[in-house]
Amino acid sequence: MVIIDELRRRYKDFSLDGILILSKLLNVDKSHIYTYGEKEVSKEVENKFIYLMEKRTKGYPIQYILKEREFMGLEFYLEDGVLVPRPDTEILVEYVIDYINRRYKGINIKALDIGIGSGAISLSVANYCKDVEVYGIDIEDIPIKVANINKEKFNLTNVSFYKGDLFQALEGLDLKFHIIMSNPPYIASEKIEGLHTTVKDFEPRVALDGGVDGLDFYRRITVESKKYLKDNGLLIYEIGFDQGEEVYNILVKEGFSNVSILKDLQGLDRVVLGIKK
Ligand code: GLN
Repeated sequence: MVIIDELRRRYKDFSLDGILILSKLLNVDKSHIYTYGEKEVSKEVENKFIYLMEKRTKGYPIQYILKEREFMGLEFYLEDGVLVPRPDTEILVEYVIDYINRRYKGINIKALDIGIGSGAISLSVANYCKDVEVYGIDIEDIPIKVANINKEKFNLTNVSFYKGDLFQALEGLDLKFHIIMSNPPYIASEKIEGLHTTVKDFEPRVALDGGVDGLDFYRRITVESKKYLKDNGLLIYEIGFDQGEEVYNILVKEGFSNVSILKDLQGLDRVVLGIKK
């Protein structure tokens, strides 16, 4: 039998991940791992630990191993095939929640999330703004499945998910939205190879690849959204830090007003928004 400290020593370079994985396998708090390092673990736990740590050392994301990730204070269930929610995306979500509270408090409105992934954006908005009816669309099956699992996990009834290629998912529903929000794939195709192994080899490419210049989805969504936004409706995107000016220009060209750029906590451009006139 092997003790906890011995297992930890084997993967020193991934020390925190080792603690997270061990505490999950043993179903205890992280502090337990620090406190009871001399305790023995079963052969089964040892084998599972080694299996998962070997995956981790090859770059497999820790969030897929743990099958969860916190976002906006909510513990999202996760699996392979959906993008891991990033803290950067909280900038967009916090803006939207604040916007709804300022403008539409107590009013029943509709919001659409394009490219739902785990449901991070749509479910956070639905959770913190109960008067909003949230719709989410995605082209892949796994995000629809995972987002529905999270919808149940958070006990939400004011959100529904549809599968399809952008707005085709909503065909026949006759919907107009007060808010359309999206964190679309925005990495330029040729830049994907330069990303960290954890992202490029294990996260879904379809959630990352934004075409030759990374802007394909901003162009498509901005044009098509005009049919689905109410007058004075808000269009809001997450963007790559170096795409502010280009996405700003796309919205202006398509006739949006009050177009502006929001920065993230590092002072980098992170969100572009505009109002449909
Ligand atoms: N923020 C992600 C990354 O840099 C990209 C997500 C996206 O393309 N929407 O890895």
